[in-house]
Amino acid sequence: MDLFKGVGLLTERWVKGKLKVIASELGIPYSGKFSKYVLIDKFHYHLIEYLYGVPHPDLAKYDSPSRALNFVNLIKDLDKDKKSPLYIYMHYHTSGNAFSKRVIEKVKAEAEAIDTSASLLAEKIMGQLLLQLEIVLKEFDGDYLIVMATPESSLDKESNKKIYFHEAIHVLLNENDLHFDKGWYYNEGLVTYFQAEHLVKGEMDMAEKIRLLRGMLEGQDPKYFEYAHVWDAEFNKYSGKPKIEVIKMMLQAHG
Ligand SMILES: [Zn+2]
Repeated sequence: MDLFKGVGLLTERWVKGKLKVIASELGIPYSGKFSKYVLIDKFHYHLIEYLYGVPHPDLAKYDSPSRALNFVNLIKDLDKDKKSPLYIYMHYHTSGNAFSKRVIEKVKAEAEAIDTSASLLAEKIMGQLLLQLEIVLKEFDGDYLIVMATPESSLDKESNKKIYFHEAIHVLLNENDLHFDKGWYYNEGLVTYFQAEHLVKGEMDMAEKIRLLRGMLEGQDPKYFEYAHVWDAEFNKYSGKPKIEVIKMMLQAHG
């Protein structure tokens, strides 16, 4: 299983190289730590996303009064039906996210405050989750860290490579204060724009690359591509200006 215990040296080197190119294209500082990542097993990864509040149709019923207060219910429901789509999602789906340290600290504080005394299983899982959160917190070198679910198959590994590149671009932009707090989809569009630029090979315009990337990243929220096209249109509209100037103008308008 060692084969699957990381993203692979070649992938890491490739992502670092691409981040450097994007940083130099934008004229922003680059650091090797922007591509630092930590792997944790899929179930605990999804429990972090659960407590963080990542939207998911099967998790909506745990939102009220709060995900934390429904933690024991979630664990009981998962234990009841190990064939449910939610159980399968939480145990077998691969995913990743560039988390800020503040978010992980908040998730940990919420997790610590959860009363699991009503369920031995929930208590045991909470113990493991808190240990994992400790490990994740120790890995932070900057404000952001890429946290990914441990891949368990070559398919997972393929998909983790794409997730890893996507999240590393987020870290590069976030660490350089190029982050939209309000117009959240502008972040995703910009990351998707750079993914298209670097993942789609061949001579063609960016609009075509974004269309082709959409086929490569099946299941991705269509809005990511919609906003990548918005960025492409903006960069074309101000083709005389460096991209960083265009991003700063957009931050003024939508940040
Ligand atoms: Zn993203």
